[in-house]
Amino acid sequence: MLDFFNIDSALSEEERAVRDSVRRFVDERVLPIIGDAYVQGRFPRELIPEMGELGVFGANLPEEYGCAGLNNVQYGLIMQELERGDSGVRSFASVQGALAMYPIYAFGSEEQKRRWLPPMARGEVIGCFGLTEPDYGSNPSGMITMAKEQGDGTWLLNGSKMWITNGSTANIAVVWAKTNGDASDRSIRGFIVPTDTAGFKAKDQKGKLSLRASDTSELSFQDVHLPADAILPTSGGLKSPLMCLTQARYGISWGALGAAIACFEEALEYSKTRVMFERPIGGYQIQQVRLADMLTEIVKGQLVSLHLGRLKDAGTFTPQQVSLAKRNNVNIATEIAREARRLLGANGILAEYSAMRHMANLESVYTYEGTHDVHSLILGQAVTGLNAFK
Ligand SMILES: Cc1cc2nc3c(=O)[nH]c(=O)nc-3n(C[C@H](O)[C@H](O)[C@H](O)COP(=O)(O)OP(=O)(O)OC[C@H]3O[C@@H](n4cnc5c(N)ncnc54)[C@H](O)[C@@H]3O)c2cc1C
Repeated sequence: MLDFFNIDSALSEEERAVRDSVRRFVDERVLPIIGDAYVQGRFPRELIPEMGELGVFGANLPEEYGCAGLNNVQYGLIMQELERGDSGVRSFASVQGALAMYPIYAFGSEEQKRRWLPPMARGEVIGCFGLTEPDYGSNPSGMITMAKEQGDGTWLLNGSKMWITNGSTANIAVVWAKTNGDASDRSIRGFIVPTDTAGFKAKDQKGKLSLRASDTSELSFQDVHLPADAILPTSGGLKSPLMCLTQARYGISWGALGAAIACFEEALEYSKTRVMFERPIGGYQIQQVRLADMLTEIVKGQLVSLHLGRLKDAGTFTPQQVSLAKRNNVNIATEIAREARRLLGANGILAEYSAMRHMANLESVYTYEGTHDVHSLILGQAVTGLNAFK
């Protein structure tokens, strides 16, 4: 793989080793099947056990809970490699690790952590994260899903969630709900909801033209009875799910680069072999500008994510820095995928090549985990001190 800026020299041997093992997995197990899975609109579930063995689920969470205990750069490199395969495969791992395991780790009781995290790390228990609702996307604080405490300390959950990755695959859902009739976002708490609980339903979202190799579902909760210990005890307020999103967005900043790398490499190879007007198209200046722009943006993005990972490991990164990285890297990856598709001419629209698949996938990545616009507003507020959300 082209490493134009010798970024490998800024990685430790252990970091390169983790990256290379996931790279091999993607080359050998994901790339041969992903085009077909995408066309069929199927998440390749058969990959889950191997991903568990590789330690990609919750890889940056501690070993004492059965996780790999890796640093955040290693975690980011895993996301990069998975998304070099497909954004759907990376989304599966992001949701499992950053959005289902992380809240249990950060807000769960010791008993919840010991019960759920080891089998989730192995991929034996799948989780999803229910925050978005049909009428509350960028503004989750308006959510209407409600959990009411019953006299005996148990809970009754009612409401619905929309666009939930892994929703129909999951064994447990981490559901965010307002509590006890309090409509303020202070009352938001997280609940672990086993998906076989009576009243819980997951329905797959049909007709997706993006992230087709990923399950996306609508969840509904009708009088779902939950035991007292279903609540994540230290969750409280909207800041709890937002902390999970910060974890996931960090990984996405790396992941999007993986998609961009796949597109760049495909375009580079194609430019050297596709002959038109008796010369490889890579010999024409216009294609070289395209490739130079792609390469430059990938290198810049990698440096942003790598530095962010070091800040995260040092415990000094901010959610606003994560917004910058997610916003920039997904944006440049989307542009790179589009340019790669164009460079490939008619072949660029085939599932046999990856550019169009990545291009379509990245439209979802651009929208989820805070839309590009929402991250613009976060950055705008950070530098001006003025809130432009409302
Ligand atoms: C494939 C996929 C998987 C997903 N997985 C999950 C998941 O696992 N769990 C989960 O909880 N959610 C998930 N989501 C939901 C995702 O997080 C939301 O789609 C996202 O937050 C945007 O919400 P929305 O789609 O309702 O758009 P809206 O919030 O309705 O936004 C519509 C448009 O308005 C813009 N906009 C919104 N507010 C403002 C503002 N204040 N100023 C200017 N412009 C604004 C947006 O940028 C966008 O362009 C997923 C979405 C997709 C597509």
